[in-house]
Amino acid sequence: MLDDKDFIKSWDVPGPTKEAIRAIILYKSEVTSNDRVVDCGCGTGGITCEFSQRAKEVISIDTNPEAIKVTSKNLKKFGLGDNVTLINDDGSQALKDISDIDIAIVGGSGRQLENILDVVDEKLNSKGRIIITAILVDTKVEAINKLKDLGYNPKIMEVNVSNGRVLDRGVLMISENPIAIITAKKR
Ligand code: SAH
Repeated sequence: MLDDKDFIKSWDVPGPTKEAIRAIILYKSEVTSNDRVVDCGCGTGGITCEFSQRAKEVISIDTNPEAIKVTSKNLKKFGLGDNVTLINDDGSQALKDISDIDIAIVGGSGRQLENILDVVDEKLNSKGRIIITAILVDTKVEAINKLKDLGYNPKIMEVNVSNGRVLDRGVLMISENPIAIITAKKR
């Protein structure tokens, strides 16, 4: 796993997704070296960099041009990127031109989550996996409801991670923001 502190960050790009969350996403995704992965809302490339090391191909999309730049910088920094395509567009648009998806990660959707999931569902291979990370309560509810409407059996896990800072007189636990990981598998 890559270390949070090794990522290049940018003031107007959220991320990277924290290490423990990246690890959960990886195991939930059941990624193999034959998989074609889409990372919608790639931000700083936290998820993109992890999947680039494990999947056959990664296509990373973000509406924010700065996110595409930072993701590209991080891929270079970690010596990755040969199997990554970066697209500066809205996920709901870019996904229309992408097919044969094994794993779709949605880490950012703006107000387009339902549209994004409609296209993902069309393009996802059988046994394909969808993983949505959500901070807003509203996104969690929207994701679950939309996946149910599309005929999936979604699961949701809310994760609260705290990391210890070892001080002279003891260990101080510092909590990260809670985040929900919503998953679904195509039959
Ligand atoms: N997983 C990332 C962080 C994602 S932050 C990391 O590890 O760094 C969410 C990102 O989603 C932001 O960069 C935002 O610009 C992007 N985003 C929001 N709505 C989007 C949409 N409709 N299509 C594509 N990207 C979107």
